Amino acid sequence: MSGVKLQNVIKKYGDVQVIHRIDLEIADGEFCVFVGPSGCGKSTLLRMVAGLEETTSGAINIGDRDVTVLDPSERGVAMVFQTYALYPHMTVFNNMAFGLKQAKTPPKEIDRRVREAAEVLQITDYLDRSPRNLSGGQRQRVAIGRAIVRDPEVFLFDEPLSNLDAALRVQTRLEIARLHERLKSTMIYVTHDQVEAMTLADKIVVMRAGRVEQIGSPIDLYRNPSNAFVAQFIGSPKMNFFTQADLAKNGSKSLPAAATGAHIGIRPEHLTGCTEAKALVGGTLDLVEQLGEYALVHLVSASGEAFIVKMEHPPKTAKGETMWFTAQSDALHLFDQSSGLRIEANSSSS
Ligand code: ADP
Ligand code: MG
Repeated sequence: MSGVKLQNVIKKYGDVQVIHRIDLEIADGEFCVFVGPSGCGKSTLLRMVAGLEETTSGAINIGDRDVTVLDPSERGVAMVFQTYALYPHMTVFNNMAFGLKQAKTPPKEIDRRVREAAEVLQITDYLDRSPRNLSGGQRQRVAIGRAIVRDPEVFLFDEPLSNLDAALRVQTRLEIARLHERLKSTMIYVTHDQVEAMTLADKIVVMRAGRVEQIGSPIDLYRNPSNAFVAQFIGSPKMNFFTQADLAKNGSKSLPAAATGAHIGIRPEHLTGCTEAKALVGGTLDLVEQLGEYALVHLVSASGEAFIVKMEHPPKTAKGETMWFTAQSDALHLFDQSSGLRIEANSSSS
């Protein structure tokens, strides 16, 4: 097993730069997730680690080896793709064994490894089947099995759940988490889905437009997003942003001085109903989505922006009526309106 280190890594396609000088250290055994909107460079960066894309400049280390210019097969990595990329004319067993056969692994050893991986993934009963006769979830397990048998130093996953239906996505996500617990290998996992990132990762790398926006543990990113982009990307429904214009009559009294001229971010789950006198912000009711355990109350702020409050017991307010809310001071996040950077509440700048 080995960690992965990226130093000053850059990728250009001709004149177009798609990865801008990324530095990143992934510890041995860590589950690292690259997350960000479509087109931000997640797959490109992962494929650079795999050796499927050339690195324009910078260095990539796996363990203590510089692998920057090595072929994929020499890097000790195994990759699982969104489209399972199985050979349709081969049985599940032969799909899983293919790489080992090519590497001239002794047949007995191949048999042992394939059966062991199949056991872990609960696909032993399907070993003689053709992939054609498997469900999407089973095919993806075969693809993961094909990676496991190679006993790689690092597992690379590129949106492996995207082709599965919602229920299977949740189940397979859990299986990948268990797999990591069991194998304790270094894993890098790419997704655009912040829920997958939050639930799987030890370390999340939030990317946007070829740059790293923030690196941290899931709870770090949730509690201390370092900019407005991360604040709204992590957490669902996303963090509400208010301005001075949205504050209730007494609202500014409870805010730190630094809030003046800033975006005031408050998560839907941190707003609580209160009287107008105690309110920080108010809004007119637009719509209530009742989800049983809680409801998502959609409102429109004084400045005309939509915001959401998560409530266990939504009041029977009519559409268009005003509702008032407050939040604990530690649930307030302040961001500079132009740079988007986090402002510490006790800082003196405005
Ligand atoms: P993600 O996986 O985050 O959705 P990608 O890594 O696939 O994003 O793509 C990042 C950017 O690189 C995109 O703007 C994409 O258009 C561009 N890109 C990817 N592959 C190529 C290529 N072969 N030639 C030119 N541009 C590319
Ligand atoms: Mg991608």
